[in-house]
Amino acid sequence: MRKIFLLALALLLLTLGISWFAVRITAQPAPESAAPSRDADTTLTVLQGGETRAVSMTEWLPGVVAAEMPASFEPEALRAQAVAARTYILDRAAHHAQNHPDADLCTDPTCCCAWASEAALREKWGGEADENLARTRAAVSETDGQYLVYDGEPIRAVFHSSSAGTTESSEALWGALPYLVSVSSPETAADVPNYVSAVDVSADDFRAAILAAHPSCALDGDAAQWLGEAAYDESGRVSTQAVGGETLTGAEMRRLLSLRSTAYTVQYADGVFHFTVTGYGHGVGMSQYGANVMAKAGSGYADILSHYYPGTELVTAP
Ligand SMILES: [Zn+2]
Repeated sequence: MRKIFLLALALLLLTLGISWFAVRITAQPAPESAAPSRDADTTLTVLQGGETRAVSMTEWLPGVVAAEMPASFEPEALRAQAVAARTYILDRAAHHAQNHPDADLCTDPTCCCAWASEAALREKWGGEADENLARTRAAVSETDGQYLVYDGEPIRAVFHSSSAGTTESSEALWGALPYLVSVSSPETAADVPNYVSAVDVSADDFRAAILAAHPSCALDGDAAQWLGEAAYDESGRVSTQAVGGETLTGAEMRRLLSLRSTAYTVQYADGVFHFTVTGYGHGVGMSQYGANVMAKAGSGYADILSHYYPGTELVTAP
């Protein structure tokens, strides 16, 4: 009898305890959530012209899409761009750039992403402004609140103009991320203006550009001997280039010589280095021209995004 009484008492205390615990849990105030929401409810702090101001994603994102991708691109490519840019901005808002710790993003395309005002776009587009503005705004509103996640977090959804058959891995440039790996990209010279560019650099200009960053490079005597072997990575881009007894990265060669990408070959003849360069941009993440080719072939924006950011999930904010 005493045993049963003790058991009942224990059960009663346990039940009371659980309900008290449950009340404690549910009574906790909801943490202030930085979780993404629909565009109109997502407020961003933007650094522009030295000033910081608050804007909604609805206000801001169409100007990014319009500045980053030609408005003439297929609607599904524009939607893919809207989702990629929205995701990129959400990641930026969660991890501020070092040069603006108090702002979610800025308007410098080399730091965050490009943005154009409606006035600037109207001037650029002239008679096509109304139609183009409608196309870019539709790409945003039709994907309202949609973004890409990996492990539950918005991904670093970088993108570039065009690739040379395959995209670059982030590992080759900035450190490995599981969804920024080398994948095929379908654009060709038939799809992309200036897809293969020729750049001629005189030996004098070459020497000046390289020595400015690497003063100890041995660039004297016969210029035909200055360049050594280039090593290519799995995406067909130059990973390293031997120059004047030193080893530069392909990315450094691109920056110092203003090449459109690191997918290059080079020949020297008669005092001139002849570079042949394919594609435009760093090559990581979504290729915009590749997205447009995929859209023309019938792919939807979700297919395009899962191709260029493999292993990620497209989600919609509540
Ligand atoms: Zn920035």
